[in-house]
Amino acid sequence: MKTAAVSTAPPVGDIRHDWTRDEVDALFALPFNDLLFKAHSLHRSHFDPNEVQVSTLLSIKTGACPEDCAYCPQSTRYDTGLEAEKLMQVEKVLEQARAARDAGSTRFCMGAAWRSPKPRDMPHVIAMVRGVRELGMETCMTLGMLTEEQAGQLAEAGLDYYNHNLDTSPEFYGDIITTRTYQDRLDTLEHVRRSGMKICSGGIVGMGEQQSDRAGMLQQLANLPQHPESVPINMLVRVEGTPLAEQDDLDPFEFVRTIAVARIMMPASHVRLSAGREDMNEQMHALCYFAGANSIFYGEKLLTTPNPRANTDMALFDRLGINAETRELEQPPRDPSPQFYDAAASNG
Ligand code: SF4
Repeated sequence: MKTAAVSTAPPVGDIRHDWTRDEVDALFALPFNDLLFKAHSLHRSHFDPNEVQVSTLLSIKTGACPEDCAYCPQSTRYDTGLEAEKLMQVEKVLEQARAARDAGSTRFCMGAAWRSPKPRDMPHVIAMVRGVRELGMETCMTLGMLTEEQAGQLAEAGLDYYNHNLDTSPEFYGDIITTRTYQDRLDTLEHVRRSGMKICSGGIVGMGEQQSDRAGMLQQLANLPQHPESVPINMLVRVEGTPLAEQDDLDPFEFVRTIAVARIMMPASHVRLSAGREDMNEQMHALCYFAGANSIFYGEKLLTTPNPRANTDMALFDRLGINAETRELEQPPRDPSPQFYDAAASNG
């Protein structure tokens, strides 16, 4: 079902970078209907509410990661039975990208389980970026921490987005990862922004954090000098063998609240439903779309965990009158964003 496009006019003064924790806590504390009304109203003023952007994610190098992220089956420290795979050949990646494009994806995200890419890896990932762009798709990569030079190389190759999540609040972070610091993550985001690429950054909920940690994570993201263009909100997928395998369920409404608060705080960003969708029913998906989620990962697998089948998503879109977003491929900006650096510096 096609609907008339709603204006995506520029923001009208609701883009802020000065959220206090009390303000974010107060959003989480709103009655559910009030929160959703506020989020949905803002969503409509920035996006077509019946449009969802669709990305495909491919693991281009799986497992054997030296980091210790407690949720991750790809860490070499946990015995999860995952079979490690070397970096894929460029042609194989392009085959998958072609298939994703033909299935309706407009963005192709490539993920490698690395602490950070090594110099010898860069020519291969650069060839992947160039090849996927030539197919007419937007490109995104997640390769771990980047130096400023690596970010520049990827931007030069035409990479549109770089994904690097903050994962959680600064306060809870040490319970989840010890092999890199929160500041390391912020540094990578700064390198990406300065290179001119767009940022995809979000986190994971349901890891045993408190609501105030979910608030803290969104506060960090929204108070970056420029909001991430994409904000993935993941529900923990409990994988046997990881330290979080026995984690209690998060109240699904708390997940919807997190989506809604992200929408309010970053009203012009795409808020993405990412990992954990396999355990969410159609009603939950619909509620998340109403709360402001307007991007999903599409396909059989989300890195190494199951993802609802592509045709299930399309069938639900049809029932809800949602259209997959189509977008002209823009040239990535080449100029660094000095305002990002200046603002970051002035934030100490
Ligand atoms: S989340 Fe990324 S960095 Fe952390 S263990 Fe998994 S692959 Fe490695």
